[in-house]
Amino acid sequence: MPTQVKQNDMNLSVAEFANKHKVTPGQVTGILDDLGIEVDGGMFEADDETIELIVEELGAFKNSKTLRMQHGRSPRDIAAALGKSDKEVLTTLVKKFRTMVTLTTTLEDDMAAKLVEEFGFKVEWAEAEKKSAPAKGKEAKKGGSEKRPPVVTILGHVDHGKTSLLDYIREANVVAKEFGGITQHIGAYQVVKDGNKITFLDTPGHAAFTAMRARGAQVTDIAILVVAADDGIMPQTQEAISHVKNAEVPIIVAINKIDKPAANPDKVMQSLMQYELVPEAYGGDVICCPVSAITGEGIEHLLEMINLQADVMELTGDSQADLEAVVIEAKMEKGRGPVATLLVENGTISVGDIVIVNNTWGKIKAMTDHAGAAIKSAGPSTPVEILGLNEVPNAGDRAVCADNERSARDVVDGRLAKIRDKAMHNPKKRVTLRDIRKGLAVDETKDLNLIIRADVQGSVEAVRGLIEKIENDEVNVKVLHTGVGNITESDILLASASDAICVGFNVKPEPKAKTEADRQKIEIRTYNIIYELIEDIEAAVKGMLEPKFEEDYHATIEVRAVFKLTKSGKVAGCHVTDGKILRNDKVRVKRGNDIVFEGDLDSLKNVKQDAREIVAGQDCGIKFEGWEDFAEGDIIEAYEIVQVG
Ligand code: GDP
Repeated sequence: MPTQVKQNDMNLSVAEFANKHKVTPGQVTGILDDLGIEVDGGMFEADDETIELIVEELGAFKNSKTLRMQHGRSPRDIAAALGKSDKEVLTTLVKKFRTMVTLTTTLEDDMAAKLVEEFGFKVEWAEAEKKSAPAKGKEAKKGGSEKRPPVVTILGHVDHGKTSLLDYIREANVVAKEFGGITQHIGAYQVVKDGNKITFLDTPGHAAFTAMRARGAQVTDIAILVVAADDGIMPQTQEAISHVKNAEVPIIVAINKIDKPAANPDKVMQSLMQYELVPEAYGGDVICCPVSAITGEGIEHLLEMINLQADVMELTGDSQADLEAVVIEAKMEKGRGPVATLLVENGTISVGDIVIVNNTWGKIKAMTDHAGAAIKSAGPSTPVEILGLNEVPNAGDRAVCADNERSARDVVDGRLAKIRDKAMHNPKKRVTLRDIRKGLAVDETKDLNLIIRADVQGSVEAVRGLIEKIENDEVNVKVLHTGVGNITESDILLASASDAICVGFNVKPEPKAKTEADRQKIEIRTYNIIYELIEDIEAAVKGMLEPKFEEDYHATIEVRAVFKLTKSGKVAGCHVTDGKILRNDKVRVKRGNDIVFEGDLDSLKNVKQDAREIVAGQDCGIKFEGWEDFAEGDIIEAYEIVQVG
């Protein structure tokens, strides 16, 4: 299609471009989005070749009544897409749909579609989080599947040698790049065995494994179960077995410490059978590798077996596909900002990519591999450390690529807005630890929901571990979310959406989080001593047990006269016949067998003086809170409610 665009016409206005080609601005931005061309302040840049491509694509829209749109649009976005004024769109919303929103409110997709239809267009939804729109002029490739390295996690009982094994493998096999042998721990590393790469996750133990799974991040392909040959199967070994079985991940057993005189690998193999793990030596299919993480014996064989298992599994990835990655570790680093280790599951991650990671996003400024070497891009099963996110994400968060900064910001804003909306539409009395401690469980809740933040991942896990032990039969302590770094605004939003309390260890709330927490009355508690934190939660949980109350009888009083005062209503002239009535007592007034009032005293007087108590044999004047229909002869029982358990 011929175009009239000048050779040097590089900076273009969307509105003018749309006008010129007789399409809507939204149709232009839809195509630009597809091509990965960023629109900034209504302007975009393109060379001649790209402009030709855009115009060609727009041909399909000429005179068409279809508008391609991303999910989660606001009235302002829609106005811009339609080439209408903001006011026109808002007025339509109010008049036709009786919907009062602000210009930047994210509309439900249904509503957005109806609104667009009102202007005579049909919506064609674009994929909001679609990735890898090809760079300008680059052709979109849909690659086939290629072999990818297995991702391996090491689990087992404490002290059976998980860390030693990971360290040995790393030291013996990681080729330190130009950093002269200095390797850093980024939460995962890769080794090469017989020309095949293997990725090891560097956080041993089933807690990390399960925490990741709980967040929907099942990244492990093969689990190595470490069992010390001199100790055998222990409680955490059993737990690890059930976690791995649950995840349906194949197990290779590393029988460790075979260098020790007391080692008895055969015994370990026999006992594995009780857990339905039948070693190959006994005719089953579980690969067992006797190893020593100290001498290195058997470790090469273990790596061979991992390769073999990976071959059987035919693990594949597609480096041309849309990016799918998972956060393995993340932290805030002085001078570097949020630093995250991602494991690429599919697709390719590159410096300059704009990634959305759950509730945050950023443009990747720099990327290094597990050995600290700067890299430009990485494919499936590769762990990378990235810089450039706006906030510290959480382990287990998923990362995808966005087409441009604007759509990333929109997606994240949309997610935060959804959480905020949910919080605003469910205004509840907020739970505080003090409420819970006092036994004033709000809404009779028996869940104590917590969001935990700490300075380093190790502390997060330690706090979580201790808190999760504070269960009792009546109260559920639920850790909804954990994170490294200061308490963020999105933590508060989550707390608000799920009625949780934010607990920080060695961290503080960010200013925005503080403001939001004050506004939403979300409790934030910060500690520097772990046991104080745990003690407080324990106390809260104890207080949260259903308190038992009983009436403690104080006195019987008879109404002998009713005085009508000119200014302040009626007073019952009474005589205490038994016990002692206190000013703060509760009272029950009986007429014959009927209870005519139950409630509090408004005043208790001895002659004209306010009295704190009146004992048997004395007269007094009583007023009741909100009730005056007493009569001569009524009998008053005074009592107090006391907690007995
Ligand atoms: P983890 O708790 O499972 O990570 O266990 P560690 O790797 O910290 O090891 C616990 C202890 O066992 C350490 O003192 C290690 O030096 C020791 N250890 C680990 N593997 C071996 C081994 O193969 N042989 C011997 N003799 N000691 C080992």
